[in-house]
Amino acid sequence: MEKRVLVLNLDHSPVAVVPVQKAIVLVLLEKANVLSTYDLLEIRTVSRSFQYPAVIRLSQYKNIPFKGVLLNRANLFRRDKGECQYCGSRRHLTIDHVVPRSKGGKTSWTNLVTACNRCNVSKGDKTPEQAGMILRSEPFKPSLSYFLAEYAERQAEEWLPFLESRVVG
Ligand SMILES: [Zn+2]
Repeated sequence: MEKRVLVLNLDHSPVAVVPVQKAIVLVLLEKANVLSTYDLLEIRTVSRSFQYPAVIRLSQYKNIPFKGVLLNRANLFRRDKGECQYCGSRRHLTIDHVVPRSKGGKTSWTNLVTACNRCNVSKGDKTPEQAGMILRSEPFKPSLSYFLAEYAERQAEEWLPFLESRVVG
């Protein structure tokens, strides 16, 4: 898989993840500086070669309104690491409203969890307490950094020093 490049704003807050070609264009146009490179990777053009950038920082502050991580099925499963939040199963995953909609439960990060089909059916139209089921972790609204750090641990350790201070929260 091709490596991706983490783009930081002038204040070091993460703003985007881009393909390497795009990152190099930003650097060549002097719109960004390279802060970290991937070891052992090089990109060659006819006339020169570049270290493969891992993290770049924009040269000018960009005001990017960030609305938060999109609430959808894929991102919810990612937040819950692909595990049913009641029994830990990784199979037949569905989405459960912790407080059922019929009882006023909202469709929000803090009221939705990944649940396997079996747990979802046996919980039915009840709250976890009523159904005698226990959540393995409290559902939370993930930040962009949370997902970036999760990706970095698997694919791009070079990013971690630039994310660590921002992972919590
Ligand atoms: Zn389950």
